Parts: sequence; C-alpha cells; structure tokens
Amino acid sequence: MLEGLNHAQRTAVMHDGGPLLVLAGAGTGKTRVVTTRIARLLLQGEAARSILAVTFTNKAAKEMKERLVGLAGRAARGVWVSTFHALCARMLRKDAHQLGLSNALSILDESDQMAQLVRTARAIGMKLDEAAPGVPASRLPRLVLGKIGLWKNQGLRGTDEPPPQHDEVALVARALWRPYAAHLRAMNALDFDDLLLCARELLETVPEVRARYQAQFRWLHIDEYQDTNPIQLEITRLLCGPEQNLCVVGDDDQAIYAFRGADLENILAFDRQYTPCTVVKLEDNYRSTALILDAANAVIAKNSARRDKTLRSGLGEGAPLSVIVANDGEQEAEQVASRIFDLVLRDKRPAESVAILYRAAPQSRLFEEALRMRGVPYRVVGGMEFFARKEVKDALAYLTCIARPDDEVAFRRAITAPARKLGEVAIGRVVAAARAADVPLVEYALQGAPAAELKTEQRVALAGFAKPLVAARAPLEAAANDPDADVALLAHRAVLAAGVARLIEAEPELATRQRIQECVEELMNAFAGFVERRRDAALAPDLAESQLVDTGEGALAAFLDRVRLDGDDDERTDEEKEEKKNKGKVQLMSLHASKGLEFPVVFLVGMEEGLLPHRRVLEESGERGVEEERRLCYVGFTRAQRLLVCSFATTRRRRHELLPRRRSRFLDDVPARCLPAAEAAVEPADPAEAFFAAMRARAAAR
Ligand code: ATP
Ligand code: MG
Repeated sequence: MLEGLNHAQRTAVMHDGGPLLVLAGAGTGKTRVVTTRIARLLLQGEAARSILAVTFTNKAAKEMKERLVGLAGRAARGVWVSTFHALCARMLRKDAHQLGLSNALSILDESDQMAQLVRTARAIGMKLDEAAPGVPASRLPRLVLGKIGLWKNQGLRGTDEPPPQHDEVALVARALWRPYAAHLRAMNALDFDDLLLCARELLETVPEVRARYQAQFRWLHIDEYQDTNPIQLEITRLLCGPEQNLCVVGDDDQAIYAFRGADLENILAFDRQYTPCTVVKLEDNYRSTALILDAANAVIAKNSARRDKTLRSGLGEGAPLSVIVANDGEQEAEQVASRIFDLVLRDKRPAESVAILYRAAPQSRLFEEALRMRGVPYRVVGGMEFFARKEVKDALAYLTCIARPDDEVAFRRAITAPARKLGEVAIGRVVAAARAADVPLVEYALQGAPAAELKTEQRVALAGFAKPLVAARAPLEAAANDPDADVALLAHRAVLAAGVARLIEAEPELATRQRIQECVEELMNAFAGFVERRRDAALAPDLAESQLVDTGEGALAAFLDRVRLDGDDDERTDEEKEEKKNKGKVQLMSLHASKGLEFPVVFLVGMEEGLLPHRRVLEESGERGVEEERRLCYVGFTRAQRLLVCSFATTRRRRHELLPRRRSRFLDDVPARCLPAAEAAVEPADPAEAFFAAMRARAAAR
C-alpha cells in the first residue's frame, strides 16, 4: 500500500495521532494521501465507523469510497465519506428534534430557495421587480440569497439584526431576512446554509450529541480544506474529540469559493488553531508535465496573498502549451473540435481523456455543436446539454412551426407550451380536421380550425398562436440571404409573440425566467451564426462545409436539421450509470466542477477578458475578485496531465453583432518558454491571414 509513495506522502499516511496539515500544490497526491491513510487505519484494525472523510462533492465522495474498497476491501464500507452538507443532513435527520425541529426535514435546493424568496417578498408586499432599481431584476433574487447566505455563514440567526449596509441588494436582503427565515421555519425546511448552521447548533447546544459523535469519530479527514467556510470550521472543531486526530489537506492556491463564504484563511491558520500540528509539504507533482506546471506557477505567482510553494514535475518537460486564436466564438469551437477530432478519431486517444473547461455554463453550446457536427461523442458534466434542455426544445418547436407548418410533433409541443385551454382531445380534433382539409397544421390553426369542434376561446387561442409564426416565414427566408438583416431578431420576435413570452412570464421564479430567456437568446445566436456561415458557404462553394449546402428548404429548416442531428431524447441521468456514461465521451464542464479531477488533455476555452476573469466578478469584487479568477485559471491549468490547449476569440457574437474581445490577462502571464516558438507571438488563426502574415514577415526579413 505504501509502495510508490514518496517520503513526505508516507509521513502523512503513517502520521499517528494529533492534528495533521498537508498543504501542497495541485496534483501532489493530497487526495491520494487521505485515501491511503484511511486504508492504513482500516488495515490496522480501526473500526470503519470511527473514520470520517469529508470531500467537496458527492462525486468525489463516491470515488473515494470506491478506492477505499479497492484498497481495504469490504471493511471500508462503514467509513463515513460525504460532503459537509450530506454529513449535516444525516446528523439532523437523527437529532433535529433536539432543536425543536421535526426530524422529517425538507431540504431546499437553490431553485426552491429562489421560489421561497419570491413568495416571501410577495407576502410582505414587496415588488421584487422594482425593489432595487439599480440592479437588473433578473439577478436580484440570486444576489439577495447570496447576501442572506453570507450573513448566515457569518453566524447570524433569523431573529438577529443583519449588519447595517447601504447598497441596494443589502437593503432588500435586510427587509426579507426575518420573514424569509420565519417562513422556512414554519415549513420545517432548511436551505443548504441552514443545514450547516443547524448542525453546528446541534453540536454546540446538545452536549450528549456532541459527545456521541466525538466518541464515534476518532479519525477525521477533510479534503479541499481551503474551501471551507467559518461554519464548517466550527463543525469540524465540535466533531473533533480531545485526541484531535484531525487531518486536513488542501491548497490555498485553489480556493475558488469565496463567493459562497469560503475563507482561505482557514487553511493558512490551521497550524495555529490546532497545536501541536504536524505540517507536511508535498512538492512533487505526479500529474502534469513540467511546461504545464511552469505555466500554472507563473500565472498564480501574480497573486499577492499566498504561501510560496515549490512544485516540480517528475514527468519531464512535455509538450508546450498551445494557444488557439480564433476570429470569433464559432471559429474557436470549430478549431477546438477539429483538434479533438484528430486526437480521438485519428490518433485513437480515448475520448474521455479529453476535457473542455470553461468559466460559465452557456459557453458549452458552441463546443457541443462543433463536436456533434464531427460526430465526436461528448458529455456535459454537472449540467445539461444545451439542446436537451426543456426550454430550448420548446423554442425549437416554435421555430419548427415556422419552417415546417405541418410538423405534427412540433405543433403538438408548441401548442401545449404554455397551456392554451386545448387538451389532448381538442388538439386531436384540430389535427384531424387539418388533415381532412389538407391544410398545414399551423395555417389551419391561423384560420381558427373552422371544421374542428371547438369553443370560441380555443379558436382565438389557436389563431393567436399561429399568426406570428405564419407571418414570420417569408420575411425570414428573405432575410436569410440579406447580409444586413438580423434574422435571429425576426425569429426571436416571432417565437416570443407566438407563446414563448408567455411561457417565460408564467414562471414564478425570476431565476428560471432569466435562464429560459438566456437559453432562447443563445438559441437565436446559434441560428444567426448558422445563417452567416451558410451565406459564406454560398459565396465560396469550394470552402463550403458540406453540411451547410442548401437542401432547397431554406435556412431555418436547414438549421433545424443540423440541430436535430442526433438529439438523444430526454435521457435521464442515473448516478449509478454515470461512470459508464463518461466512457468514450469528451468531458465538458465548468472550471468549478473540475476541481480535484485530472485529464490527459485539457482545452481551457474562452481565455478572454470578461470571461476569465469574468466581467461580473470584475465589476462586483475588483482586485480581490481577480485573485480568485486567477486561482480558477490555476485550477484549470493544473487539471491537464500531458497537453494543455488554451483558446480565445478576438470577437464574439451577440446575435448578428460581433463585439471585439481581448485575450485574458492570465494568458499574458504564461512564460514564452512554455509556448511553442510559433505561438509565442500571437498568430492569426485564419489560414488566409496567416499566409499573408507569413508573406509580410518574409518581405520584412529581406
Ligand atoms: P488536487 O490539488 O488537484 O486535488 P491532489 O493533490 O489531490 O490534486 P491527487 O489527485 O491525489 O492530487 O494525485 C494526482 C495524481 O498523481 C493522481 O493521478 C495520483 O494517482 C498520482 N499520484 C499521487 N501520488 C503519486 C505517487 N507517489 N506516485 C505516482 N503517482 C502518484
Ligand atoms: Mg485532490
């Protein structure tokens, strides 16, 4: 079990009792030390249930458990491996009654919280849409909940007075603070923050519960300790018995959850809080090649608040990073997908060894499309594939009704989203009557379905639905060939007028409304981009992508076919099947979701000012925010084992407009020696442009 471990790792694994801190850079085997240490304790005869391991995600917990069973056999089954939240829920389900709550708690996730916040606002007569004129209404609930969460994590209770603050969000949060807490209490409901707070209260105020867990857990381990918040710190202190057999591991450079109240001081101060503390440093990175590590180290070195660390690779220099510079977002995705195609289908690398990492979820769309087009299987981890989302499918059904007014599946979907007082039976009558009259469904609906047996209000609803769809068709086709026209805007207006606007308004939660809006907009961006590429292809047929060549059915119909290439319908994700699902598929995920993971090949995309560092963070948290974004970038770089490719676009589309973009300041920090000679100087991605640049360079050299 110890074979293969280096000296420092062995020290940590064999460390007997008392506080132990492993503070070390990425990929140095911290998680492996925790797992091996637990296996060592088990093999030494410690009872499984006396061992606790806290991980950052449920996925990490599952993986650790599996590895433990592999190392120590069935004995490992009884080890408590979970996240802080799951641990707290487990304790509260047993003992919440001791706090005057029922043990049958309901636990609210983020969307439940939003819904409750909106209900509370309504109950106290506050109009959330108008409550903070300086803040976009769609972002307000999330910001307010963030504020409330922060206060909770600072230890405030529902009955306490929040600290005086004067910004608009804080004022709204102050007004909602007590009633929101009271509502949750009345429903016997806890949000994620409450889980931690109540568990802490339980341990603090009920000595017998505390004593019970202290007696049970003789060995405590916490992974990713840099992302713990003050309440988690307290829970740890309360769980930890007099023996203080507490082992924490982490990396201050990978602290990326300050926005949720995590405090990286926790790890930096650990050896002062728990004494005498053994500190183990790990300096050998087993994950990444030297050039990747050099790049990561150079980026993170720019942060001010950090402990200096040595990190060396044992894997040799490796290949230099490459940087893809694209003219726009579509081209960035094309180039990334084409490299992945080569890696997977030509070089026969397993697809699951390649990851695409991005800062924000909607960024995945372009890459999904480009991969689909090349037939490269992929999977979006911790999120949903763009075209599989309900709101996207609804909007697509409307678009289909424009392009193909006789498509029954699309008609049936669109006419019921939102509901229009037409049930299954009534819709069946409309379809049958349209067929009998030999008129396309949407056009028949426009006529109010004269031969179908319906109520007047149903006919009105049908006509109202169909009118903008029928009206949009001809102008859309005309616009598709006019380079100055905004086709996406036309399509957007038509689907909004036909019912998508009502679909959005019907959502009680602002956050959901915003998400649907964003998705519909992103779908329109996709359409606009497609139309533009198709125009270009028509102008230069020899460069045309064969898929874009006209089928004679018009731009919108061609787009819909492209999108539907291989939609795997509403596939349900089952935790158990998850591992199987990853096999043979390129992994797409956010940087936050990539924590603790590793991949032979990593594409870190959208390396632009405004995306990484993210615009919102720059606006809201200034320089402190930049430091956290830099750590995110460091996390991204250090996921790569062999090959790291960074990409950015010099312009990005907002419908038919192209906005200029600048490469990320973090890319500027990558030393030239980590880049291939050709890419050290930024090279234009367009082959024609590259050709002329080379010509100019040659002319200048003469
Ligand atoms: P992160 O900071 O990203 O969470 P980490 O410090 O937890 O990283 P691990 O994930 O535990 O690092 O290990 C990184 C990789 O190095 C894993 O593939 C692990 O199996 C491997 N590794 C760790 N220690 C050794 C060793 N002594 N010999 C060979 N490989 C090792
Ligand atoms: Mg780890």
